[in-house]
Amino acid sequence: MADKLLKKENLGKLIESVLGKGGRFIAPSTDARQVVFKAVAKAEDLASDYILARNSYKEFLFPQTEVVAEFTVGKDGVDLRGTDVNPKDTVIFGSRPCEAASLSALRAVFTWDFIDEFYTKREDKTVVLTVACTKGDEACFCTTVGLSPETKDGSDVYLKETESGDYIIEAVTDKGKAFVEKHAAVFEDGSATAKPLFIPAKIEGIDLDKIKERLAKTENYADPVWGELTKKCIGCGACTFVCPTCHCFDITDEGTAFEGERRKNWDSCQYENFTLHASGHNPRDFQHKRWRNRFMCKFNYYPNKFSSKGCVGCGRCIRVCPVRLDITEVMEAMSK
Ligand code: SF4
Ligand code: SF4
Repeated sequence: MADKLLKKENLGKLIESVLGKGGRFIAPSTDARQVVFKAVAKAEDLASDYILARNSYKEFLFPQTEVVAEFTVGKDGVDLRGTDVNPKDTVIFGSRPCEAASLSALRAVFTWDFIDEFYTKREDKTVVLTVACTKGDEACFCTTVGLSPETKDGSDVYLKETESGDYIIEAVTDKGKAFVEKHAAVFEDGSATAKPLFIPAKIEGIDLDKIKERLAKTENYADPVWGELTKKCIGCGACTFVCPTCHCFDITDEGTAFEGERRKNWDSCQYENFTLHASGHNPRDFQHKRWRNRFMCKFNYYPNKFSSKGCVGCGRCIRVCPVRLDITEVMEAMSK
């Protein structure tokens, strides 16, 4: 059966077709000299030379801030009105396979004990077009956490770049097949040679089972290794904001004493106030305890509670950390 191709000169037509049908097209694009996921309107806006966008596209499914309710306080009491979410059809173009695999982690937490429709409605209307990696850098470690550039989990359409700069496309899910049918005019039949994929070397010193075993022991909490490994962390929270699987949020009421909005805002377990009790007690009173929590979340809580991965090995937290705290070094140390 002949391959389906997306010719590079048809990328603009694909964007037009998506926008023309009322959708939004999110893709890696250059902004302030960095490649980031953002809404684009034409092919010229697309970044062509990137490994991974600096931000995760989770912000288009789980915004940094959003109104979830409005309130008015009157003499008869408080009137709290929930807001609805009516997302647009969204196309994420240029996901990498690691990041597509992170979507099951987000869905797991947002449908665990409560269906968070602010997330699920957006994800239901999102189609993920993954472009397999033909290059990577020192921070990529997907193969160490059991993924690879050939992983298709979370991708609706999986694309491979060809030697001539076009894309060989494979619709992976029913949503992906429907997308290809809906925009059939921009895809062509034909065959082409795919560029070789970049497969990062597995880090030999890391053993996920050993990490999980060590983290499961209660004495792990007081292990001095946390202080030694993570003492340089300054608690800026950047690693959590760029991480495609981090999902913590806080709810705040903003406005006057008489009316206002209830907002859902990204939060970070790296912040001192994250676990500060009203009493003044803080169970994670030092930064190494907060870092321990982030690591436990990825490699103990997530794999125990859900089948999905808490870390997909994208390496974003390594690239963004201002003090160069490398999660793979902690993984190696905890594998011993
Ligand atoms: S912990 Fe780091 S490497 Fe793992 S998914 Fe998050 S940002 Fe990527
Ligand atoms: S980015 Fe680095 S310094 Fe900032 S909270 Fe994360 S580990 Fe700590």
